Amino acid sequence: MDTIVSTTKNVYRFGDKNTDGDKTMRNLLGGKGANLAEMGRIGIPVPPGFTITTEVCTKYNNLGKDETVVLLLDEVSDAIKSIEETMGSRFGDATNPLLISVRSGARVSMPGMMDTVLNLGLNDEAVLGLAKKTKNERFAWDSYRRFVQMYGNVVLGMKPENKDDEDPFELCMHQLKEKRGIELDTEFDVNDLQFLVTEFKKLIFERTGNDFPTDPWEQLWGAIMAVFDSWNGKRAVYYRQINGIPSDWGTAVNVQAMVFGNMGPNSATGVCFTRDAATGQNEFNGEYLIDAQGEDVVAGVRTPQQITLKGSKRWAELAKLTEEERAKNYPSLQEVMPKLYQELFGFQNQLEIHYRDMQDMEFTIQDGKLWILQTRNGKRTGAAMVKIAVDMLHEGLINEKEALLQLIPNKLDELLHPVFDLRALKRAKVIAQGLPASPGAATGQIVFFADEADKFKNSILVRMETSPEDLEGMNIAKGILTARGGMTSHAAVVARGMGKCCVSGAGALKINYKKRIMTVDGHEYHEGDWISLNGSTGNILEGKVATMVPLLSDEFAEVMALSDKYATMKVRANADTPKDAKTARSFGALGIGLARTEHMFFEGDRIKAMREMILADTVKGRILALQALLPMQRSDFEGLFEAMQGHPVTVRLLDPPLHEFVPHQLATQKELAEDLHISLGAVKNKVAELHEFNPMLGHRGCRLGITYPEITEMQTRAIMEAALNLKEKGITVSPEIMIPLVGTLEEFESQEAVIRQTAQKVFEEYEDTVEFTIGTMIEVPRAALLADTIAEKADFFSFGTNDLTQMAFGYSRDDAGKFLPIYLEKGILKDDPFEVLDREGVGQLVSLGTKKGRSSKKNLKVGLCGEHGGEPSSVEFCHDNGLDYVSCSPFRVPIARLAAAQAAIQ
Ligand code: PEP
Ligand code: MG
Repeated sequence: MDTIVSTTKNVYRFGDKNTDGDKTMRNLLGGKGANLAEMGRIGIPVPPGFTITTEVCTKYNNLGKDETVVLLLDEVSDAIKSIEETMGSRFGDATNPLLISVRSGARVSMPGMMDTVLNLGLNDEAVLGLAKKTKNERFAWDSYRRFVQMYGNVVLGMKPENKDDEDPFELCMHQLKEKRGIELDTEFDVNDLQFLVTEFKKLIFERTGNDFPTDPWEQLWGAIMAVFDSWNGKRAVYYRQINGIPSDWGTAVNVQAMVFGNMGPNSATGVCFTRDAATGQNEFNGEYLIDAQGEDVVAGVRTPQQITLKGSKRWAELAKLTEEERAKNYPSLQEVMPKLYQELFGFQNQLEIHYRDMQDMEFTIQDGKLWILQTRNGKRTGAAMVKIAVDMLHEGLINEKEALLQLIPNKLDELLHPVFDLRALKRAKVIAQGLPASPGAATGQIVFFADEADKFKNSILVRMETSPEDLEGMNIAKGILTARGGMTSHAAVVARGMGKCCVSGAGALKINYKKRIMTVDGHEYHEGDWISLNGSTGNILEGKVATMVPLLSDEFAEVMALSDKYATMKVRANADTPKDAKTARSFGALGIGLARTEHMFFEGDRIKAMREMILADTVKGRILALQALLPMQRSDFEGLFEAMQGHPVTVRLLDPPLHEFVPHQLATQKELAEDLHISLGAVKNKVAELHEFNPMLGHRGCRLGITYPEITEMQTRAIMEAALNLKEKGITVSPEIMIPLVGTLEEFESQEAVIRQTAQKVFEEYEDTVEFTIGTMIEVPRAALLADTIAEKADFFSFGTNDLTQMAFGYSRDDAGKFLPIYLEKGILKDDPFEVLDREGVGQLVSLGTKKGRSSKKNLKVGLCGEHGGEPSSVEFCHDNGLDYVSCSPFRVPIARLAAAQAAIQ
């Protein structure tokens, strides 16, 4: 075999004697490895071990097993020696064997996604040595039984692939329990365990054709390679996909001396948190078990006990136990092992101060000695996240910038929408998964038609996809579920704007409108059946799942105020109604960056007037219909302007293709024909006439205003009259009128002329004026490329990154839901570009457009109002490119404010 000479270090030791790495080396050592090294460095008692770097994982994919062993051999041998010296035992020794664990550890924690092997190093001789050394035969044989089983599952490929497959080892244990008339694993005696080990080995030979490896080194290499393999296992690949973790990161492998919490009454194992992960309360807490291994604490076979006395008393109250019962059967660690508790308390304090964040730790007490096995920044709820950051700031543990950087902007969402009761959520059955289009929790009865949303008090609107016609029903429904459509589908955009829970693009749903049935995996759900949606995860759940309304805390307000102190970029909201505008203001929006005027046409009678306008065959007819719409638009604008209390409001002229406004269902077509006193045939003809093959690239945006200038006139008049009416009431408004879908300077100029002439007319009629500006959306790539020319005329730019993404990639917003999930699955795209701004491509257009625009108008105001305006990494991009503001759905305003502050700090 050729020798591979490694020039880089592949193995890093950790422990209180020899530590090579530290916490900054996350990318190389993985999160777990970096933290173990750091703990060793600062004198926390961690069982000694070593980390094989993530780089080796990547190399392994090319080298294969044999060459990887050659690559690592010397370094791993040295590192094992180092562990042997610290622990005073020897790997593979028959009398005093060193046992080790082999675990994965990626840069970010991927709980339960990859494989672990415990008790490695045992064989038929070593088990006897272990029994003798620990004076505990049962413990030794139980460890051996667990090891053979785990090794068989993880390394030798005997793990069941799906839930219907039997685990051969579990089956074997089950049969023995039946024969012996016992129920629990803990009831097996030494003979049983010896029998099981023999049977397990037989099973392994039958299934794999190979003997169970008795050489500890063979065991070790097998386990290391299995951990590398598990990086590409089905579970891990899926987890990476939904969490946006790149596959080239690889996993590290942590090899560590085993310590045992199951060596008798002086041993224990547990999990603890430096603060409460659910509420953020500054209280040390956690659970432990005497004489147990780590997995026993989470497995739920035995009831874990509380670590602190205070926690134990609170727990007993909930469990309805008397103080006497509690103290006797479930005492706290603080009571049972007061000295070790004090030691643990000291370490948790030290670790929190050291890491400047809440820690989640695992520990084991082996025969009276405390070992810390792991520490990491603890996962927490959105509410806890905010409280912990603010508390730590007040405690002087961290500074303002650190407090802001500790927060995950997207998690603020949880504080703004109804949330599921966590206990109820745990019990709920997941039917299918869609996109987490609009966060929140919704529970209701299925309806399949928007105009039947009020059929039940709480309804969930289930559609293939939604259209503007469905708006009212969407508003009534508690949640929206669609089988098609992505993150910028109609359903998703509208739901986010409403702050309504929505799961979109759930491809597994088959909807039969006629029968009013939704089928998932052969299971039918009928109209009226209860389902629940988790808009934060995209999960669709069976039945009613209890929800609760979150309250906004003082800490939340403090985080927002702090964000504004550091952010340099402003945050506005996309809002179309006074109600949305008020919500946006309450979340701190400093103006409206996009009022989509078309959304105003769908309420009540307006749609009728709108349809009349569209169906008019003559300019005169159209003007008449527009006159009916004018007062409605005017009062909408008055409401919007008033709600924004003098902050700027950008009103965009009509944008969507007209066919969206006409009815497509026969019954509504008949109704319309009657209302307008025309024939059904005439309505049908008009609908057919308006049909477009590619409406997203068709007769929409400024193309409408250019072909029907009377629409632009009416909208301008409504805006100006509203502003003048408010001026009379003493409210100052400076409207910003925005022209959509401009691609040429001439388009802009044509609309600008109509706006200016109309404004002039209104000013003359009112004998008064208001200041206003005229700007444009930059959402056609050509506009970004010619931004310098357009900026000569336009007062401001607002990047419409929904359309800009659509046109830069050539992905129809309406149809991308069909292939984007596959692109993401295959890694062709890392993120959905309609969700996370594509910096490389679309980002160039934003950056170039801004630069070019400002090259001809130095102080050109530039914003962004696509869905990306509320997505933290896109907000960061906007900050870096000098945009003046981003505009997003009202419910994302706090997220964008925090993200803008983080961008300014970093
Ligand atoms: C956009 O295209 O980014 C935009 C904000 O406009 P709309 O989504 O209404 O097309
Ligand atoms: Mg657009």
